[in-house]
Amino acid sequence: MSVELPEIQILAEQMTQILLDKKIKSYDLQDFEKLQRVGFINKNRDDYDRLVGCTIKSINYRGNVIHIKMNKKMNLVLCPDYGAEILYHKDRDSLPKKHHLKIEFSDDTFFTIRQTGMGCILAASDSGVKDLYVIKRDFSDTPSPVGEHEFTFERFCELLDAKKQNIKAAIVGRTAIVVGLSNAAFQEIIYKARIHPKRNTSSLDDDEKHDLYDAMKQILNARICSGGKDSWKNLFGEQGRYTPVMGSNMKEKDCPECGARIEMITHGGGQVYFCPRCQK
Ligand SMILES: [Zn+2]
Repeated sequence: MSVELPEIQILAEQMTQILLDKKIKSYDLQDFEKLQRVGFINKNRDDYDRLVGCTIKSINYRGNVIHIKMNKKMNLVLCPDYGAEILYHKDRDSLPKKHHLKIEFSDDTFFTIRQTGMGCILAASDSGVKDLYVIKRDFSDTPSPVGEHEFTFERFCELLDAKKQNIKAAIVGRTAIVVGLSNAAFQEIIYKARIHPKRNTSSLDDDEKHDLYDAMKQILNARICSGGKDSWKNLFGEQGRYTPVMGSNMKEKDCPECGARIEMITHGGGQVYFCPRCQK
């Protein structure tokens, strides 16, 4: 499953609790060639050598990206876009069989990352980090849908009105007016706002825009408060408790609001589940 802003926030906060001031003793890369070919792992393996001996100084996040800043002018940037298992291990016994990157700290604890879908694990120097595609993409002027006071309803409408585009393109991907969301959050937000997935943003009236803005905040905050989605595990391997209100988990089920059978369309490069009666 995709890792979106709520799960990134949970991971980054847990990493801040447990990883700060830990010193990297060694690392291991496994089974990484496929990710390396598409630029999701550094082309030059030696870049990771420079992480050895570094101490973790801060952890920042935005959108789908976690930026781990170290001393000695080094950084590790994680962007688990299409799914990853990112885990902390207090000893060797709980290490998973497979990883892409394993880090051993000087206190004999571990941190492992395995991408289960496409996504980045990149080592970068202080001078190189700002040029990384995912840093430019998510540490940008595009607002975050939660956690930023400047992202008011008025700002949301301005951005929505500036681009007349399909509702999915406004929420997910390159032309989105917010960072950090993918197809999973999109399905939930428009179901809660009772908006059909094929709508164009230019056709939304003020009430619908309000519903969309409120639905976005409510869905994302509920997911953060419930420890992430129930198909996802946090840094300590604990399952999230949030069940999506719409998505593939609703396949062949009836709408809890109106009883109509949930339908699915392929739209904007993904499967979108929706209620044909509630969503207009
Ligand atoms: Zn319905």
